Amino acid sequence: MLVSEVMLQQTQVSRVLPAYPAFLRRFPTLAALSRATLADVLRAWSGLGYNRRPRDLHRIARLHPRALPTTREALDLLPGIGSYTAGAVSCFSRGESVAFADTNIRRVLGRLLLGRIATEREAVALDEQLVPTRGADRWHHALMDLGATVCLVRTPRCAACPIAADCRSRGRVVQAAPRRQAAFATSDRRVRGRIVAELRDAPHGLRLAELRHAVGDARVAQLTLKLEDEGLLSRRRGRVRLAD
Ligand code: SF4
Repeated sequence: MLVSEVMLQQTQVSRVLPAYPAFLRRFPTLAALSRATLADVLRAWSGLGYNRRPRDLHRIARLHPRALPTTREALDLLPGIGSYTAGAVSCFSRGESVAFADTNIRRVLGRLLLGRIATEREAVALDEQLVPTRGADRWHHALMDLGATVCLVRTPRCAACPIAADCRSRGRVVQAAPRRQAAFATSDRRVRGRIVAELRDAPHGLRLAELRHAVGDARVAQLTLKLEDEGLLSRRRGRVRLAD
């Protein structure tokens, strides 16, 4: 459950679907994940991007190799686990009636009750008032499905919406201009991904010059230092490699 939630944080469902069972076959338990090197975990994460996520999963497994903490508050304190993921894991894997909000829940509850997309804080406050004591998992799945298939970001299908009669936004959603990510930030992330990808295939590491040549980008030295700071890479005898 934690693995799927973390995978879905910033990766499309279509890419997570094949990767999830493969990752679980490779690391079926927290103990197995804790015994692996970070380099092996990063290799198993190949294609999913945002490599801080497998690093954090690996850290969690080493902190708790037998079992995850049982309270939402303790889950929230784990590396890389925010309030949303802690709530989702408590609700979907333990059936707890807790409030949380992803982007779909923010959109549906916000449009329904506020007439606009809610902030996360607003959506969690609304969810707290509405989440049922029993069946909180079905409640949250329903909101997420509605957001993913009917109450779409740019073109909500109000005519087909089962809660349209009560909705403050019905037929009134103004299409937002598509958001453009900063070109530099996107490109920076891509270069980081390529650095990790090159090192996945180099078990003995690469010299910085080799890595720069393989990636072909002037930011390799600077981004490699940052990845070392984040614990994803290490440097030994002048060679950069995935961290153990
Ligand atoms: S009526 Fe339209 S805006 Fe309101 S929740 Fe349904 S799809 Fe979204």
